[in-house]
Parts: sequence; C-alpha cells; structure tokens
Amino acid sequence: MTDYKTIETKKLHKLIYKERGVRVKLRQLTHIKKIINSGCLLNLEFKKNQEELFNIFVKYSNVLEQIKALNKFFFDLIKTKKEYPKFRLTIKTHFALRTIFTLLNVSKNTAVYKNFDKKLLKKVNFDDFLKITKKIITGLEKLNSEIIDLEEWFNDKYNISLTEGGHLYFCPNCGRFIGEKFRRIKCFCGKNINEGRNTLRKEARYLKDEIYNFFTKGFWLEEAICEVLKQLSDKRYCGIDVLGRSGILHELDILTALDNKKIFLIAECKDTDIDLKDVMKLNVKNEEINSHISCIFTTEKVSDERILQFCKYYKVLIFDKVFNRKSRDILNKIKQEIDLIR
Ligand SMILES: [Zn+2]
Repeated sequence: MTDYKTIETKKLHKLIYKERGVRVKLRQLTHIKKIINSGCLLNLEFKKNQEELFNIFVKYSNVLEQIKALNKFFFDLIKTKKEYPKFRLTIKTHFALRTIFTLLNVSKNTAVYKNFDKKLLKKVNFDDFLKITKKIITGLEKLNSEIIDLEEWFNDKYNISLTEGGHLYFCPNCGRFIGEKFRRIKCFCGKNINEGRNTLRKEARYLKDEIYNFFTKGFWLEEAICEVLKQLSDKRYCGIDVLGRSGILHELDILTALDNKKIFLIAECKDTDIDLKDVMKLNVKNEEINSHISCIFTTEKVSDERILQFCKYYKVLIFDKVFNRKSRDILNKIKQEIDLIR
C-alpha cells in the first residue's frame, strides 16, 4: 500500500488515491512540461496543426515501412537469382510500390507510375529502379519539409518543439534505403558502403513516442484542463486512481480540492463525442468518492437531450466545445457552483 496517498478536505472527508506512474513520468519530462505550460493546448489552430503533423508522420512512417519491405524483396531476389540488374517484380512488390506512390501522392500521370504499370510482372531494369527510388526520396523530402514548416510554426508561436532531428541514409548509387541509422552494407547494386559519409544522407524529423502518446491518448486535454483549474486551486491531481466508498478504485481524469480545501471537484475529459454512459459513469464516481462538483469536458458539441437532461438532474457541469471557451468562463461557472455549495 506504499503507493497510496491521502488527500483531505478540511471539514468533510479524506480520499485515498494512487498516482499512475506513467502519467507522473510523462508530466515530469521537460518538453512535455513546456507544452503544458505554453498555453497552446486549448488553441484550435494549434490542435489543427498538431493533427496535421501527426497525419504527415503516419504517411512518413508508412513509406519507411514499405521501403523496408521493398528492400527485403530486392535483396532476397538478388541473393537467390543473381539477376541483377534485371528484377522480376511480383504482386507483393507491386503492392509495396503502389502503397508508397499513393502515400507520397505521386500522380498517376507521371512517367514513372505509367511505365511501372506497363512493366508490371515483366522484367524491370535497373533504370526503372533508379527512377522509383529517386521518386521515393523526393517524396520523403517533401514530407520532411512539410514537417519542418509546422515545426517552425510551433516554435515561433509557442516556443515549443514536437519533433526531433535525425537522418535517413540511402545508397548514393541506386537510392536503396539503408536505414534511420547508418550501417555498413554491400548494396545490391554492387556498391560497398563502409562509412556514413559515403551514403546519401537526408535530414529527417522524428516524432517522440511520449509526444505521440500525450496527444493520442487524451492526456493533453486532461493536462490542459488541470492547467486552467490552477487559478482555483494548487491541489490538483491528474490521471489518478481514487478509492471509492465501496472499496474499489476509480480512474479519475482530474481531482481538485477547492475553496480552501473544503470542496472536491472531479472531472472527466474527452477529446471525442461523449455519450450517456460517460456521464452516468462520472455520476457513479461522484457518488463513490463523495465529491461536491463533477464536470465533463469535451472537445465536441453535446446536443443529445438525454445527456443534457441527465446532467441537469444530477448537477453534472458540461463544458462542451472546449476550444471555443475562454478559461475565464470555465472558472466563473465553477465559482458559481462553489458559491452554491458553501
Ligand atoms: Zn545501391
């Protein structure tokens, strides 16, 4: 039970809670802390750019995966058939290339796309392979420059960074992808590559895992709301498990002690639509924890009459479309609740 801690309100009761290690670690990372403190999280333009960045990265890493599959294919082919510089494309390779072209938005009208189609499942010579790899490298460079543009925007506007720099290595002779780290190879075009400086090295940006998790697992919204509540309380807990009256643990997105530690507020945060079950669950937690105010925050609009009715009856505060809300309005609404309870 060493992980458990207690939080007390002055008059009423105390709660036993446990912090989630992953969340504590995440919050302590300097670059995550910087993002939370920058005030960017509830800005709609920031959110759009962050999502755009993540979409580019999905494309980017898919291309790299496909290139690896393609490399393996060519490598196996050369090794077993020694047919260099003539390759025979199979359906599998065809799909890998098609995927790459689609991901890189290579137009179906370009010569490389058309010729490739004609020669499908026939012998493709080395020149075709060169054309294809050139196209892939150009495509990756384009994705990378889109990433850099967004990164500059984050930096200029909020002085934060979501990506980190790295490199991609290619064979200078045929454009074969070597990897994200340099390694010595004998390329299937025949070139021996022993040193990093003998490669075709391209700048690349990477998305850090923790940044990815922070934004895709909904943590960003919990931390953003917790940051807003800072003005009401310095006793705020984000991403914790709290022991209910029944003796079972409940996951809580946010718990704060307000009004000089006399009032407990709990909140649920969703960067998706909410349904009736979400607010019902929150209400059960409210009952279990014996909190005084419960709130639900969502990025989406809530218009389901049943949800509105339920929240009205059980006094659950709904803050929908959080991007359009001013922090001041959120705080005022909560202050009104505090005044009613006092
Ligand atoms: Zn090569």
